Parts: sequence; structure tokens; C-alpha cells
Amino acid sequence: MQASGTTFPQRVSVAIVDKRLQAALARASGGLAQRRAALVAALPEFEALRERARCVKEHVLANLDGYLERYEEQVTRRGGQVHWAATAEDARAIILEICRKANARTVTKGKSMVSEEIGINPALEAAGYEVIETDLGEYIIQLAKEPPSHIIMPAVHMTRQQVGDLFDEHHRPLGYTKHLTEVSEMVDEARQVLRGHYFRADVGITGGNFLVAETGSSIIVTNEGNGDLTQTLARVHIVTSGIERVVPTLEDATTFLRLLARSATGQETECYTTVSTGPRRADDLDGPQEYHVVLVDNGRSKMLGGPFREMLRCIRCGACLNHCPVYTSIGGHAYGWVYPGPMGSVLTPLINGIDKAYDLPNACTLNGRCQAVCPVKIPLPGLLRELRRQQFESGLTPAPIRWALQVWAALAKRARLYHWATRIAIPLLSRLGRRRGALSWLPLAGGWTGTRDLPAPQGGTFQQAWRKRRRGQR
Ligand code: SF4
Repeated sequence: MQASGTTFPQRVSVAIVDKRLQAALARASGGLAQRRAALVAALPEFEALRERARCVKEHVLANLDGYLERYEEQVTRRGGQVHWAATAEDARAIILEICRKANARTVTKGKSMVSEEIGINPALEAAGYEVIETDLGEYIIQLAKEPPSHIIMPAVHMTRQQVGDLFDEHHRPLGYTKHLTEVSEMVDEARQVLRGHYFRADVGITGGNFLVAETGSSIIVTNEGNGDLTQTLARVHIVTSGIERVVPTLEDATTFLRLLARSATGQETECYTTVSTGPRRADDLDGPQEYHVVLVDNGRSKMLGGPFREMLRCIRCGACLNHCPVYTSIGGHAYGWVYPGPMGSVLTPLINGIDKAYDLPNACTLNGRCQAVCPVKIPLPGLLRELRRQQFESGLTPAPIRWALQVWAALAKRARLYHWATRIAIPLLSRLGRRRGALSWLPLAGGWTGTRDLPAPQGGTFQQAWRKRRRGQR
């Protein structure tokens, strides 16, 4: 759980010894990675789709103002209303005002990472509205009063037993007295409880996986159908979305949909893909009377003109989380905010400030798996390195690390000096660790050796080994 007042290293220390969390992470991310790999292998045009998606996003980002204006025009033409929110605070104020004008009391919500980002639930609850999450994972963490730990599987950190206990606590007063142990029973019970809320809801809030400039439509994908009920049964439908989610045409959206399902959940397609265009028309059987879109900037236009622009291609699939050795070891709550994993390690400092999330870009091995699986080819390791560079330039890097890096840079820029230093250091380390084959203490590396031994170097330096190899002596 996100604990305020704790630091990233403290949260990590708790997470890596939490056996239940470790089991849940291994089960979930391993399964998703395997399913994704199988589906990617079965789709020969997967790489071509990735390249096309990258190009479409780049084109949109280069013409973002034009596509957003076009989108707004189309929404307005079809009877909807677009609201522009420069900050999270603006977005909250806009949504609260829509709810106030609608005389709302109950608000249902589909899953939306932007609504987590802007913190809409606490704002609505503080204003006296009843808020009910309708995505099963979000519903579970709402009952547990926890933030999501994964961008597509918010309750991935919880076990079946924990969910059964939560349902006991919250559903017993509603007349559901059986203690549940099977997932299918829990899904069924949650569905029964939620059904009543859909019918009572005045306002339904959903995210927008894609916004289509050509038609003014918003598209959401779900596996539970909760998004459809959230947006069609309430009187007022509010779409919350980042400004970067616009795509030119419906056909472009299909490219992203094919990539999204495979990358996110290892499915060819999600169970429900819902396209909404404006409020209910005269001949529609159902649908909301009002249709609002809140377009959230919250730092995005600043990213657009700088070195982090490529991050705006993100379609929030979660593949980078599932393939990240850091995320799969510590889970999402350790990251301390709504976006975890590699994408969160870039987005959190950019949205909240590089000084507010110093550890995140540094908690990365730069192994590159995230970039290799990202459906829109975001160079996440490069962006993390750029954040580290900016932290260093801003003087945020702790002094011992700065000095060590300066020494390293001085050596690395002088080949002779570097060779001389390694010729002394490697045999020395080798001798120090000879007895146990490992070093249990090293100056300036206490963070490493405090919890594990460093294997002692074997043999000579890389250059010595290379020279031997070229001379044919292996
Ligand atoms: S960075 Fe790429 S892999 Fe990660 S969530 Fe975004 S689109 Fe998916």
C-alpha cells in the first residue's frame, strides 16, 4: 500500500520480503508475459503494426493542436461538450461542476488512469458524492482503500483470500453471508452488488483509450462490460482523458486496438470495445442525456516540446511493467504514485517534478526489456537516462554518487588511465575476495554489499581477455 511519509527504499524493503506480494506478482506478470509472447509470435505483422502505431502517434504529436481542435468540433457537432483542463486541479473543478449542475448524488466510474492521476475520487467524496468503481479490480481496491498497483490490473497484489475477506466485511451488511473462496463466485457477487449502483447512478465517468478526431468519438476497452453500463445508464457521461490520446481516424484506432489487447492482457482483442459518440439521439434506445469530455493537460504540453515527447506515445498497456525485473520484484505501491514500473518512472518525475521522485529513474537496470516490448516503441531506458542526467545537472544527485560518477567519467575519458586503473583494481578485488569467492564489503558500494555479496572478479580485465582471444589463446 502507498504509505505517505515513507521513502522509496523503505517501501521497497517492505515489498521484497512480502511473500504474498511476491507470489501474486510472479503469478500475474509471468502469465501475461507468456500470453503476450505467444500472440505476438502468431501475428506476422506485429512489428509492422508497431511501426505504424509509432508513426501515427508521431504524426499526431507533431499536429496535436489541429487534431484536438478537430476532435472538439466533432464532439460539439454531435451534441457533446469538451472541457480543457490545464492542471489536475482544473480537471477536478470541471468534473465537480458538471456533477453539481446535474444534481448528482451517485457517481459510477469505469477504470481510468487519468482519473487516478487527477485524484477525482477523493475530491468527489469530499464534496459529498457517493463514488463507486465498477471495474472489478478497481472495486476491490476501493473497498480496501488502496491505490492501484498496476495500470491494467489494479488489484494484482491481492490474493483470493484477501478479496474473500474484504467481500465478507463489505457485502455481509448487504445480505451476502457466504464466505467466498472461488474467483467465479466473487465475480458473480460483485456483479450483483454493482448492478444496483449502475441503475442509481446520476453520472458515469469513464476514461478514453482513444479519442477519434474524425468522428468525435471516444473508445474504451474492457473485459467486463462495466464501462458500457457506466456510460449508458447514467444521465450524464463524463470522459476523462489525456490530450495525447487523440488519433486521426477510426481506422488508425484499429491499429492501436490490435496492439493494445495483445500487449496488455495477451488477448487478440478485449471482450468489449465501445465507441461513444455524443449523448443519446432521438432514435437511440439508451444512452446519457449529456456527454462531456474533460481533456487533461497536466504537464503533457510541456513534454511535447522537450526531450520527453516520445513518452506521449504511451497507450497505457502495462507491457513494460510485466517485463520489468524491478516492477516484478517490488510491485506497484513501492513506486509511491499512480503510475508504476518503467512508464511510471518516467511519467511520475515529469508530472510531479524530478526533485519529488528522485529514486524512480535510478531504480532501473537499463536492461531494455521495456523498450523491446513497448507497442509504440518508446525508448524508456533512454528517457530514464535523460532524467538521471537532468537530476545530475540540477544538483539532485547525492554528493557521494556525484563524486563517484566524476571519477568514473574522468577515467572513462582517458583510455590509458582507465587501463592502468583496472589493471590495479581487478587483481586487488580478486585477491580480497579470493577466500570466499565474493566480497561482503566495498567502499562506496554499501547499498549493494549491505544485502548481498558481490562476486569477486575472476581472472584479468576484459582487455586482457580480449587480447588473449585475438592472439588465439582462449
Ligand atoms: S510505455 Fe509502452 S509498454 Fe509501457 S505502458 Fe506505455 S505503451 Fe505500454
